[in-house]
Amino acid sequence: MKRVLSIATSDSGAGAGIQADLKAFLRCGVYGTTAIVATTAQNTVGVTDIFAFPPEVAEKQIEAVASDIGVDAVKTGMLFNAGMVSAVAGAIDRLGLPNVVVDPVMVAESGAVLLEPDAVETYKSELFPLATVITPNLNEAFALVGEPVDEDRMEDCAVTLHAMGPKAVIITGGHTSTGADLLYDGEGFKRIEGPVHPSENTHGAGCTYSSSLASFLALGYGIEEAASRAHAVASEAVEHGLGEIGEGAGPVHAL
Ligand code: PLP
Repeated sequence: MKRVLSIATSDSGAGAGIQADLKAFLRCGVYGTTAIVATTAQNTVGVTDIFAFPPEVAEKQIEAVASDIGVDAVKTGMLFNAGMVSAVAGAIDRLGLPNVVVDPVMVAESGAVLLEPDAVETYKSELFPLATVITPNLNEAFALVGEPVDEDRMEDCAVTLHAMGPKAVIITGGHTSTGADLLYDGEGFKRIEGPVHPSENTHGAGCTYSSSLASFLALGYGIEEAASRAHAVASEAVEHGLGEIGEGAGPVHAL
């Protein structure tokens, strides 16, 4: 069985973060492992507290998983601060982990800040150059290039992000008018379309997408096919989102 490692943060409400990643791994037919870098006290309404672990805690988990179970792909999610981004980049580089999907999580749908502002530079200088694919959403993509959000300039934004070192960039379309993801691999652009399901129950959609993408890369698909399959899994999970769980945005449900 292929093995995919999530390096990310716990969501006590289990809609997003590590918990969403494990559900996506199960859905995609891979064996999921985890390196938990921080934990949130969180429910469907919002994040009440964030507790960060020291970077060494993440490094030890990554080393334990890699030395015995092995890693066919890795996904990074919420890393919270610059020290953690740097430690995670160092471990991925040192251990030579393959198929690296970097989801540069910055702000939750609920508005909670999930990345300290000074960590943005560390992402660019240390983690993006190791990435097979980075998967910012529209807001994250423009925040990373330091420009105001402009849907008409997504292609330029993707080119600027690609120059930061990842093999490919996918700006996910959940916040755009069409819902299509934009893939740029340094040579050309592809739009990955799929059914758009109007739903309030989107908590964890981004985590589900990036974990599914890592899973399909581990399973041997090329980036475009993996992206298309991951888009389908995430959009299905939104369609089946659990509105009855909690008072806020319900968690997605990857069947
Ligand atoms: N909490 C954690 C731990 C996350 O990793 C993320 C996103 O990656 C979120 C919350 C935000 O999820 P959403 O914006 O889908 O509500």
